Amino acid sequence: MNAQLTIALSKGRIYEETLPLLAAAGIHATEDPDKSRKLIIKTNHDNIRLIIVRATDVPTYVQYGAADFGIAGKDVLIEHNGKGLYQPLDLHIANCRMMVAVRKGFNYSSASQPGCRLRVATKYPNIAAEHFANKGVHIDLIKLYGSMELAPLVGLCDAIVDLVSSGNTLKANNLEAVEHIIDISSRLVVNKAALKLKYAIMQPIIDIFAKLTHLNLNNLI
Ligand code: ATP
Ligand code: MG
Repeated sequence: MNAQLTIALSKGRIYEETLPLLAAAGIHATEDPDKSRKLIIKTNHDNIRLIIVRATDVPTYVQYGAADFGIAGKDVLIEHNGKGLYQPLDLHIANCRMMVAVRKGFNYSSASQPGCRLRVATKYPNIAAEHFANKGVHIDLIKLYGSMELAPLVGLCDAIVDLVSSGNTLKANNLEAVEHIIDISSRLVVNKAALKLKYAIMQPIIDIFAKLTHLNLNNLI
């Protein structure tokens, strides 16, 4: 009997940008998770299914083997710390940057000198803590779960650490990006035990993703 393969994805941009990769591997979802309420999506292969989970939960499903592999942003992987996960590929999808942003007119360069103290709101406490520790800036960290752009506007914080791609959301809220922390893209994460047990079904898919990733890279260069 063929091994059963479970792939963890999150709705939205990761799902959309993963579909062409899956298609290249001959895997097609039978339903659109944006239209269906189902969390387990069948594919054209009886033994391959997709599960739809929150972006931040992808590493957890893979770590415990509830999914054999998954696709997650580097932001999520840094915060999760990646225990038990094998990260064989940068897929170069869902590209964006982790940035520090402030209200327009806020004098960030003087407020972020070594020894200064800043109130920073973010969904990414580990990334923010490390960034400001490297600069020698003390921070009061405020953990948020979304809509971070609001926080500096209503006086919750001086700065936010958030993902930026076009910068339009910042602009629309009278904020500006003042520091680039790290480039972010989505990675394939693999359960180590599953890769050993299901090598015959998993490795060819990983190889196809790897080829496409090189093509993506060549297009970028
Ligand atoms: P929600 O926004 O509904 O609270 P979420 O933040 O968990 O959910 P997304 O905003 O879809 O989910 O982000 C999922 C992943 O996509 C992130 O972990 C990140 O790697 C990537 N991502 C987030 N924002 C952007 C962006 N502006 N451009 C490109 N990729 C992004
Ligand atoms: Mg989001």
